Amino acid sequence: MPFTKKKTGEVDAVVVGAGFSGLYLLYKLRQHGFTSRVFERGGDVGGTWYWNRYPGARCDVESMQYSYSFDEELQQEWHWPEKFSAQPDILAYANHVADRYDLRKDIEFNVEVKKASFNEKSRSWQIETDKGEKIATQYFIMATGCISTAQIPNIPGLEGFKGEVYHTGNWPHKEIDFSSKRIAVVGVGSSGIQSIPVLAEQARHLTVFQRTPNYSIPSQNEPMTADYEKLWKSDYASRREEMRYTPHGSLKDLNDKSALSANEEERQLTYQKRWEIGGAGYLGAFNDLLTNIESNDTASEFVREKIREIVKDPVIAEKLSPKTYPIGTKRICIDSGYFETFNRENVELVDINEMPIEKITSTGLLAAGTTYCFDAIIFATGFDAMTGSIFNVEINGRDKKRLKEKWSGGPRTYLGLMTEAFPNLFMITGPGSPSVKSNMIMSIEQHVDFVLDSLIYMRNHELKLIEPQIKSENRWVEHVQSVANQTLFPRANSWYMGANMPGKPRLFMPYIGGVGQYRRICEEVVAKGYDGFKFEVNNTQVAAE
Ligand code: NAP
Repeated sequence: MPFTKKKTGEVDAVVVGAGFSGLYLLYKLRQHGFTSRVFERGGDVGGTWYWNRYPGARCDVESMQYSYSFDEELQQEWHWPEKFSAQPDILAYANHVADRYDLRKDIEFNVEVKKASFNEKSRSWQIETDKGEKIATQYFIMATGCISTAQIPNIPGLEGFKGEVYHTGNWPHKEIDFSSKRIAVVGVGSSGIQSIPVLAEQARHLTVFQRTPNYSIPSQNEPMTADYEKLWKSDYASRREEMRYTPHGSLKDLNDKSALSANEEERQLTYQKRWEIGGAGYLGAFNDLLTNIESNDTASEFVREKIREIVKDPVIAEKLSPKTYPIGTKRICIDSGYFETFNRENVELVDINEMPIEKITSTGLLAAGTTYCFDAIIFATGFDAMTGSIFNVEINGRDKKRLKEKWSGGPRTYLGLMTEAFPNLFMITGPGSPSVKSNMIMSIEQHVDFVLDSLIYMRNHELKLIEPQIKSENRWVEHVQSVANQTLFPRANSWYMGANMPGKPRLFMPYIGGVGQYRRICEEVVAKGYDGFKFEVNNTQVAAE
């Protein structure tokens, strides 16, 4: 379908972001004859995989599953070199998709959307970019990702540091030679844990500043074998269909048995087997690891015991052992030789609970009176997750209501897709949807399909606006929290809870009820004529039955 603008300056849809969400949105919008403009602040496609180029960056969902399923030819033709893909391979895949469907020509790179306002009179959105352009659009779709707004903590003195400063989530697009350098890494989440072993091999000396130790499971990554690839490709369509109705949008071996119903020997054997297989499947060892603290303790202790076995210095091993939250309630980390790295001569661990960072000096860092000198400081300190990249755009809805104000107590959505008073604004994998608690690409596909089905439905019924009913939104917000409260997740100071950002409301942001369950709910909503939404035909409201 050729790209034709409705009339000068006006399109059916404006999409923000050209990561995996934006690319698939553009493909589908085009396929169904909707005009669109896609804006991307980066210089090319790929979203999170465009920015997160730090050494060791890798996906912790298996490659055969972390990829699009919408086109059988695409999934048959693409070859993944490893079981868990490295960032360059995922970025190459995003580029392949952009080329294969000729998507780039409709994406404007290095353009940031700054403001979006709903115009009551025209019943459309007015979008403003950092280049000063204003665009009118019927639909406004945020495809900005969940963990895209990198955060550097507010440590005094940073601006005076004479060395190099990096953030893993905003890594330069060139090789950096650390070979003669003394470097600091602050933060031991997934990004820190992936980069530390690689940086330790490159740098002269590496000091890791840790606030909260993390549980990490070896990835046991390996080259893709022809047999494994064939196994998936011979049966891809039905495997994908099965994935769509699983708890996490991926095929994992989930043991449907309580950890407490097994005896000690069986438990240890089960954990050992999962450890040897590697990856996040460790948390599927028993069915109650994320709901029962006693069960969880057994899985947590197994990992602590592994850390004690791997790390030679018992004092360092203790510091690296997480004890303040249950395993899995912060995003589980998947590593390649992380704990082993602390046996190296050139690696030092600083626990900032004992040695609080006071300030950054011109030559390094001052912690509890001790001066550390560095050539480079790398912040692996995470993101303003789920809401950060949405708030980066000033969004004003009906009656000039600001989204940031509406969400000042935490995000409020219906199905994680839309929010009341902001008609025709869609969020792909927004807060209140499975999003980060799922195989992201499967969740992206489900949301994009939902959005396109809604647009087609509205076109067929000559409807102008779609918006959640406030009572459905309120019920959904309560449901998201009540499901989370039945689990151990609220016990951790995680970014899922907004706890990593000073001043951010503390509540569980993704929907943890399961990808399959969520999909069924969405299907039911559609089957009931968009239950919980209301529509407008010009200025007349029509509530869904
Ligand atoms: P993160 O999980 O939020 O970890 C940030 C780290 O920085 C934590 O150790 C945190 O300590 C520390 N930190 C934050 N502020 C600090 C401060 N002021 N002083 C000292 N330490 C501070 O961020 P991330 O590692 O970038 O990962 C974010 C998410 O991205 C992951 O959970 C995952 O979902 C995704 N990701 C996935 C992959 C993958 O697919 N393998 C790779 C990278 C990232 P506290 O724990 O004490 O807050």
